[in-house]
Amino acid sequence: MNWSELPRHVAVVGAGLAGVSACEQLRELGYDGRLTLFGAEPHVPYDRPPLSKDLLLGKQTADEIVLRKAEWYAAKDIDLRLGTPVTAIRPDEGRVELVHGTVAVDAVLLATGGRPRPLPVPGGDHPAITVLRSLDDAVVLKDRLAPGVRLGVIGAGLIGAEVAASATVLGCQATLIDPAPLPLEHVVGAEIADLLHSQHRANGVRVLVGAVASVEDLGGAIRLHLADSNETVDCDVVVVGVGIVSDDSLAAAAGVAVNRGVLVDTAQRSSHPRIFAAGDAARPTGPDGPLPNVEHWESALHEGKAAAAAIIGAPEPVRPVSRFWSDRYGWHLEVVGEFRGEVVLRGELGGESFAAFALVDGKCVGAVAVNRPSEMKAARRLIERGLPVRAGHLADESVDLRSLVTGNRTPAGGPR
Ligand SMILES: Cc1cc2nc3c(=O)[nH]c(=O)nc-3n(C[C@H](O)[C@H](O)[C@H](O)COP(=O)(O)OP(=O)(O)OC[C@H]3O[C@@H](n4cnc5c(N)ncnc54)[C@H](O)[C@@H]3O)c2cc1C
Repeated sequence: MNWSELPRHVAVVGAGLAGVSACEQLRELGYDGRLTLFGAEPHVPYDRPPLSKDLLLGKQTADEIVLRKAEWYAAKDIDLRLGTPVTAIRPDEGRVELVHGTVAVDAVLLATGGRPRPLPVPGGDHPAITVLRSLDDAVVLKDRLAPGVRLGVIGAGLIGAEVAASATVLGCQATLIDPAPLPLEHVVGAEIADLLHSQHRANGVRVLVGAVASVEDLGGAIRLHLADSNETVDCDVVVVGVGIVSDDSLAAAAGVAVNRGVLVDTAQRSSHPRIFAAGDAARPTGPDGPLPNVEHWESALHEGKAAAAAIIGAPEPVRPVSRFWSDRYGWHLEVVGEFRGEVVLRGELGGESFAAFALVDGKCVGAVAVNRPSEMKAARRLIERGLPVRAGHLADESVDLRSLVTGNRTPAGGPR
């Protein structure tokens, strides 16, 4: 590494997981220049997954979900500027603009995350309609969820499903509405998607397949009208969870290439040599153009680290196999890699815990599990190392999957 060519001042815009991960990695890699982390929110950077789970359920407080304690930033000589949104980046002039003033910088990491997609229907901006992205959103929602409250959840993806599950635990009467009969089918296959979705009904949630066409103000409550049917849902509170829009606005205004996210290469480099992007704000590109956006916790963590390495010219870290998780009704769902090819089941589908592995050419390429974290760790290693595996071993509960990774058991060949 040529230390004389290192940026003297790195600005990280966005104090979420990707931004904090980048700052931490920059210091880990020995970068000792000036490092400023700008956060639009007033809070010490916090973790988002608990917002729809333990924070909503009152099992964790806001103080308990911080990514790092406030003192950590000072100890690492990171200038944490909370409540300080960056309003523009001027990469060719080497500065970023704030509401009051400008700051000279040599490299900028955009880790601005995403904004909840609004509900694009008449009445969709009704004040009783909420979203769940930030700690402030979660505090407002938590305050509104009480026993007997009629909650409408629009969108049965990861966040919608978790909100419905948490609200049910809190005694609300939840109705979950999505046009897709089997949300997550494209990720975990029809059978597991069906099982996951059926959990809502089994736990007393009313599940409707359809799109919300309009929102009517009932004065104190609201009525959701579904498209192509006479179905209506009266609600006291509505949460919209229909995805996010990657926040690429600073990059777009600066002429950096964007396409529903800041376009980056595998090292998180944008089209401008001084600008990098990571986390939900970034969109990876492959040889054939932009790839799907990845909006999960682990990718934000990794991309922050990868961006840190790229900023100071350190080697690109190995990209781990993708992983995300979701919690609902006591089920800890984990998904790693890609779920395609031959499916091998371990345990009883729908039982207390089970795992399903996806095999292509005798190698594991993906896995889905409920309440089987250690087996998912093993699956991840099998995928990362491209080890051949026998379907029979994966299905056999008496086989410790770790042994397939370490090679203490012959993992392939022989009868299935
Ligand atoms: C409720 C909820 C539950 C989730 N649960 C899971 C889960 O169970 N499993 C999982 O894998 N993933 C989960 N996720 C997704 C995961 O949390 C995100 O992918 C991750 O937080 C993305 O991190 P990020 O740093 O890219 O963006 P963010 O965490 O959104 O951080 C971006 C920050 O940048 C700030 N910012 C934006 N613009 C500016 C600006 N101009 N200047 C300064 N600051 C700015 C924003 O205010 C924000 O604080 C969940 C997300 C949510 C919202």
